[in-house]
Amino acid sequence: MNKDRLTLLNNKIELIELSSEVQKKTILVIGVFHGDEPDGQMLIEKFLKNKPKNLKNRMLFIPCLNPDGKRLNTRTNANGVDLNRNYPTLNWVLSERNEYFGGDSSGSEIETRFVIDVINEHSPDAILSIHAPYKVVNYDGPAKELALKISELTGYPLQQDIGYPTPGSFGTYCGIEKNIPTITLELPENVEPEYLWVCIKPVFEYLAFSY
Ligand SMILES: [Zn+2]
Repeated sequence: MNKDRLTLLNNKIELIELSSEVQKKTILVIGVFHGDEPDGQMLIEKFLKNKPKNLKNRMLFIPCLNPDGKRLNTRTNANGVDLNRNYPTLNWVLSERNEYFGGDSSGSEIETRFVIDVINEHSPDAILSIHAPYKVVNYDGPAKELALKISELTGYPLQQDIGYPTPGSFGTYCGIEKNIPTITLELPENVEPEYLWVCIKPVFEYLAFSY
């Protein structure tokens, strides 16, 4: 059984499950990979607040994967590790200690191991991770169709390649190496929360009720 887990700074990483009677698919949604990109949590909480019922798919939410980074207002976690470079992928490398530092070894961080455990236990059929500020829909693995749909729902352009190398990234780990359709949704910056919610609500609804 997965339990909520504590970080280095003793903050809780929560996993919230919305089950469905039908359980066609399992969808994992992750907010706040990077501590200075807090909007994913706000959006997930707005979706959960409405207590959605009669879901087609089982929904798993990690509203805030990086609570330490959120508290410190840093991209990295409290160890100075970029959680989107810490996955045990074939291309993981020991990198420079800057804000893209991938850790002393792959999978070294509590937050990374938490996500790996959730994926191993629940075998999601698709994953959405929420970032900022590029306003694009990026994808890895067999996710082109889903990415196109999300691009259509949000009006954010589709982009398969983010334009720079991302060794140890979550998309490489889940999408390319585990073959799970994986969407990286990059929110725009400097947008009112209410307006952002209007744009993103249809994505959550699509994943929960239609996909
Ligand atoms: Zn990010």
